[in-house]
Amino acid sequence: MLRDSNYMKRMGELLVFHKIIDRPEELNDGNFEDLIVEFQEKADIMADGNPKWETLWQMQYPWVQQHPKLSFINCQADKLEGIEGYDHLYLREDAAEKFNALRQEILSLGGKLPVDGGKRDLSEGAGTGRSVTSMHYPGLAFDVACNAGFFKPETDPFVVTLGGNGYWEVFCRADHGQETKMNAFFWDNWNSGIDKTKTIHGKFISFTKLCAKYGFNPIRPRLSFTRAKDRKYIGCEWWHFQATDLLIPNLSQMGIELLRLADYSPDSIRNANETLWERKKAIFMVDWS
Ligand SMILES: [Zn+2]
Repeated sequence: MLRDSNYMKRMGELLVFHKIIDRPEELNDGNFEDLIVEFQEKADIMADGNPKWETLWQMQYPWVQQHPKLSFINCQADKLEGIEGYDHLYLREDAAEKFNALRQEILSLGGKLPVDGGKRDLSEGAGTGRSVTSMHYPGLAFDVACNAGFFKPETDPFVVTLGGNGYWEVFCRADHGQETKMNAFFWDNWNSGIDKTKTIHGKFISFTKLCAKYGFNPIRPRLSFTRAKDRKYIGCEWWHFQATDLLIPNLSQMGIELLRLADYSPDSIRNANETLWERKKAIFMVDWS
């Protein structure tokens, strides 16, 4: 398993919190397993030296209960004529800071950022195009307005192209953007289900690259979009970006990220959405992404 410096630093801090070591720097690859076993024995859980769902939960749950909470922040967005969407969205404060900086850069380049939302209420269940463990729940994801692109690439504010590894690369029309020629990917309408492409010229910024600069990363289209029959536009997900730079692979857990918010407690999450609470120990990049 890859243990990068962020992972080791955070794990060191958690071992200090649990009084296994005195300083985070004491943790290294050589003593990692022994120190994890020491924690596991102290917590009376299976001692295999490999921190997974239960170990990470036992490490982080007491920590999150004793540390200052984060808030949801109301962020401004751009309501565009003829585009459905909202003039604001709520994000967790660390993601909100990044979103606001992203939007300021887009505005300074002459673009606009219309959105369909950020934080999702816990009581909103999953469904077609809605994941049980969506990063919208802790306010770590936002959606560009889903009718701001994909149907009229000659004029839409956003143009979608095929990027690498099955991800989209999304471009934003902007007066001060770069003259760009691209192969736009589109459908004729929400229900057409037939992939088409067309060459488009204009002034654009790579929205995908700009999002990455501020720590927001895309997801791949869902099966409901990629399958051969009965394809659903709502599974396309070109509009979805999530602040995964705020999470640590193999360590961050969904329930902990929710509990970092002042609005949420174990009871309030369980009462609002039992399915979500059952998945609380899901680990980022293991069974949560
Ligand atoms: Zn989304």
